[in-house]
Amino acid sequence: MRTMELFAQLGLTEQIRRSALPPEATRFIYCDSIIGQEIARTPPMDAELSRLSPAFTCRTSQDRVHEVLYDAASRRHNVEIRTGTTVTDVTNHDYRATVQCANGEEIDGDYVIGADGVASTIRHALGIRMEGQPVLGYGHSIYWQGDLQKWVGGRQCIQFFTGDRAGQPASVASVDGHHRWITMVMSPGENRPEPLDEEAAELVITKAVGLDVQPHVIDIAVWRISAQVAECWRRDRVFLAGDAAHSFPPTGGFGMNTGIQDVHNLAWKLAHVLQGRASESLLDSYEVERAGIAWSNAEWSVRNGARIRQVGDAIRADDKERLHRLIEEQRSHVEALDQDLGFGYTEGTVVAPVRPEGGSPLLVARTGHRFPEATIRVDERWASSVLSFAENRFTLVTHDPHHWQSVTASQGIALAECGPSVLSGNAAALVRPDGIVAWVASGRDSIQQLSGIIEELLR
Ligand SMILES: Cc1cc2nc3c(=O)[nH]c(=O)nc-3n(C[C@H](O)[C@H](O)[C@H](O)COP(=O)(O)OP(=O)(O)OC[C@H]3O[C@@H](n4cnc5c(N)ncnc54)[C@H](O)[C@@H]3O)c2cc1C
Repeated sequence: MRTMELFAQLGLTEQIRRSALPPEATRFIYCDSIIGQEIARTPPMDAELSRLSPAFTCRTSQDRVHEVLYDAASRRHNVEIRTGTTVTDVTNHDYRATVQCANGEEIDGDYVIGADGVASTIRHALGIRMEGQPVLGYGHSIYWQGDLQKWVGGRQCIQFFTGDRAGQPASVASVDGHHRWITMVMSPGENRPEPLDEEAAELVITKAVGLDVQPHVIDIAVWRISAQVAECWRRDRVFLAGDAAHSFPPTGGFGMNTGIQDVHNLAWKLAHVLQGRASESLLDSYEVERAGIAWSNAEWSVRNGARIRQVGDAIRADDKERLHRLIEEQRSHVEALDQDLGFGYTEGTVVAPVRPEGGSPLLVARTGHRFPEATIRVDERWASSVLSFAENRFTLVTHDPHHWQSVTASQGIALAECGPSVLSGNAAALVRPDGIVAWVASGRDSIQQLSGIIEELLR
């Protein structure tokens, strides 16, 4: 949901949703095979959750997201995309950083973001190690095409988990919900297995589907399952982001989402520094804030993976009571609210609250958390709060805008009005350009503190 909120700010959600699965497909189905007996399914997502965000969760394939982002980036006059350019090294200088390319070219920038994936050349060049669990096993993926519409019908889902009763587990993930699928089998152990050959891959597909659908295999891959976070996310003018900075098991769907949110955290800080509105040290809070989130998402994804295996054990043992309990628990995997919208920063570019703050961050403004979805008035217009924090400026949200007007104007802070409930009895919330609450003002007298707070946050 959070990533969709960021895409909504860029006006991209309509294109992304065009190829998405329907909302009811946000579930897992356990069955002997796709055409075989269904054993269990996770409960439907609570429809009430859509009130928490103007951009509800979306299940779509990563290649489609790439297409939409690539297209949007290439339309920007200040973006130049060089495909086929391999970076081989990076060097920090006093006021810039340079990447060296395989074709001999050198490209200079004020800053470099190494978002070059799990095997990151930039990370290696900087000598940054990964911490955590490097090998939790390996996954085989078979990306294939085949018409399952007749068999899947109205049972679209994130993944069918098949073969547990037969002791040959394989999952089938939906790519487009109709013709494109990824069948996955897990391989425990420390040693990287050889990729399946096409004949073995077709056999895995046939068993998982329950009949031979004459699949057209597009790609076969082996990938390492790990739960790791970089020991450091910045060396001078070079940052790491995305899989270059962290890797999780895919059980949770947070790899790409976390990477996108890393860069969202970093981008406004870089803009502030480059525009002379903040000092360089603002950039230190990037790692302080995001590394904790990456660890949390890594651990959560590992727990989800363990639960999927436990569900398989319960199915194999025909332990209905345990199965029922585990499937109920899996709601937190599918809905993922705490990781998705409830994440928070306790340190960084935030002002620690003087007294403990109560209430769910999904509903009330709490320091370090995303300002919850509410209708607020900014620049004379009432709109979704989440969609209003898209400009590169701080916003003070209060139910008493007249009281704060003069000080926000003098500080270049936008002023927004909201209902009192979202502030949970507090006077105002100072929201960063990335929609995170930096400070909660408890009383009307906090007005004197505001300029000092801004200075402290940006120094
Ligand atoms: C089976 C599976 C399922 C997954 N499901 C989900 C999911 O549901 N949701 C989710 O959020 N995530 C999911 N992920 C994780 C997701 O795919 C990754 O987290 C995401 O792709 C990371 O994005 P990235 O841009 O950081 O790295 P990458 O996608 O790896 O992109 C790195 C880019 O850098 C380029 N590059 C690398 N080295 C160089 C170099 N030296 N010079 C120039 N360019 C270079 C590469 O060509 C590539 O374009 C899944 C992963 C797997 C394996």
